[in-house]
This record gives sequence, C-alpha cells and structure tokens, in this order.
Amino acid sequence: MPRQFFVGGNFKMYVQHPPATPRYLNGLPFHNGSPLDLSTQDRTIDQNYRNGVAESITNIVKNLNAAKLDPNTEVVISPPTLYLTLTRSLADPKIGVAAQNVFDKPNGAFTGEISVEQLKDTKIDWVVIGHSERRVILKETDEFIARKVKSAIEGGLSVIFCIGETLEEREGGKTIEVVTRQLNAAAKELSKEQWAKVVIAYEPVWAIGTGKVATTEQAQEVHAAIREWLGKTIDAQAQDNVRIIYGGSVSEKNCRELATQPDVDGFLVGGASLKPAFVDIINARI
Ligand code: PEP
Repeated sequence: MPRQFFVGGNFKMYVQHPPATPRYLNGLPFHNGSPLDLSTQDRTIDQNYRNGVAESITNIVKNLNAAKLDPNTEVVISPPTLYLTLTRSLADPKIGVAAQNVFDKPNGAFTGEISVEQLKDTKIDWVVIGHSERRVILKETDEFIARKVKSAIEGGLSVIFCIGETLEEREGGKTIEVVTRQLNAAAKELSKEQWAKVVIAYEPVWAIGTGKVATTEQAQEVHAAIREWLGKTIDAQAQDNVRIIYGGSVSEKNCRELATQPDVDGFLVGGASLKPAFVDIINARI
C-alpha cells in the first residue's frame, strides 16, 4: 500500500526579508552566525501572511478550510504555542495541529516549558521535535531531542522528527553521517513499534528559509539512505511505512518535481505555508 502523502505547515515566528537580505533574530544572523546568500530566493511573503499572530493565522486556517485539499494527503499545521488552541478551534477536524516543541519531562518545575499532557489536554495530537533552529540556536542535543520524541510518543502524540545537516557538514561530505547520528540517538530511545508514530522530516539546514532548495537528486539520495537505515536498524515494516518528508524552501514552484521522487513522502513547509499557495503544495501529487 502506498504511504499516505504528508504535508506539514510550520507557521513559526517567521521573518521573511526581501531577496538578498539575511534573516535576523534578535539582531543576529539566523544560521550559525554567518550571513546567508539569499540571491536565489524566489519567494516573497505577502504582507498579510507575515508572522504568526491571531489575525494572520485565522486567515491561513480559513483559507485551508475552504480549499479543495487532496484527500490522499494528510495535512498538519504547526502554529506558535500561544495559538495552538485558536488553531485547533478553527481548523477543520481533518487538519491536524502540531506544537513546535515540547519538554521531555512529564511534569515538574520547568518554567516556560510545555508538557505532553498539556498538549493532549488542549486536543493537540502532533508535535515537531528537533527543528534545526532548536538544534542550532537553542543548542538542543541529539540525546535531548531523542528523549523528547520518546516522551511525546509515550504520552500519545505523533511526532514530526526533524533531522538534517548544516552547509559545512554537507560540504565536508558528512551528510549521511550526520543524519545517521541523529537517527541513531532516536533509535536508542524508541521501540520498533513506536516508529509508527514518527514522520521523519529531512531538512538540510542550508535550505531552510534560504530559497536554496535541495535538488530532487539531493533530496532523494538522503531520503533513500534514511529508508535504508530504517530497514537495517529498525525493521522492514518501519522501512515500508515510516514517512520521510522533505523541508527546506519548498514552494508551489518546486513541489511537484520533488513529489515525484520515490522516497519523498511529503513536505515540511515554512515560509510558503503562510501563503495561499500552500494549497498547491498540499495538492502536489494531483
Ligand atoms: C521550516 O521552517 O522548517 C522550513 C522548511 O522553512 P522554509 O520552507 O521557509 O524553508
């Protein structure tokens, strides 16, 4: 049976600058401290869809509710924490809602963190874990991320588990070594059965928010390696069934070609999920 296509929209605290301008967070260049070359950027975000606040999120969700979405594509949207309940109350029940983070402990004094139980209590069924911005900027380790994946699954959530290499690692020929290390950390924590609750998002750090999308060959090569890893390290069922989605500058322009690749089972979309064209990405296979 073919794996159901999966498209996640990451409505993060998104700052999309005009082409050739690096993204900044608190005045610092966004990725690894080095300015990004955005000269290939072909996307500008409509002012109405910038940043995740109640008004823009309401518009995006209403747009999605009204759109004709491929029934064979599972759609999950991931707003900033403060807007999870608003999003859940507005979104059509067939659209899933994901938190962008969760803590690894079920309870305790952890000011500012949110628990799996709190997400479940507010009817949130998905969580994004290990996004590169949390790995790179907030220094989350492979082991911490793996513990979060385990806690989330044990608490009844499904997980979009992000992995991917930096530009330096790619240029150093370390892509497969890096994603394997990130996967191995999760494999230490999860049982074989628990992989059924995981969607793996391969997001090369150099492609996120930069307009530099991986080529179809680059994406397929890494996805095939991840699938092989699933077969060797977990089991044949995980190899067949776990969805591996691609993230990094996916747009309505490049999604169709990426979607033709045998091991690309969907997308994790940042900037383009804030635009009406997100619907075209969801419908990339029809
Ligand atoms: C992301 O935020 O995970 C992402 C993939 O962003 P973008 O699509 O803008 O590159």
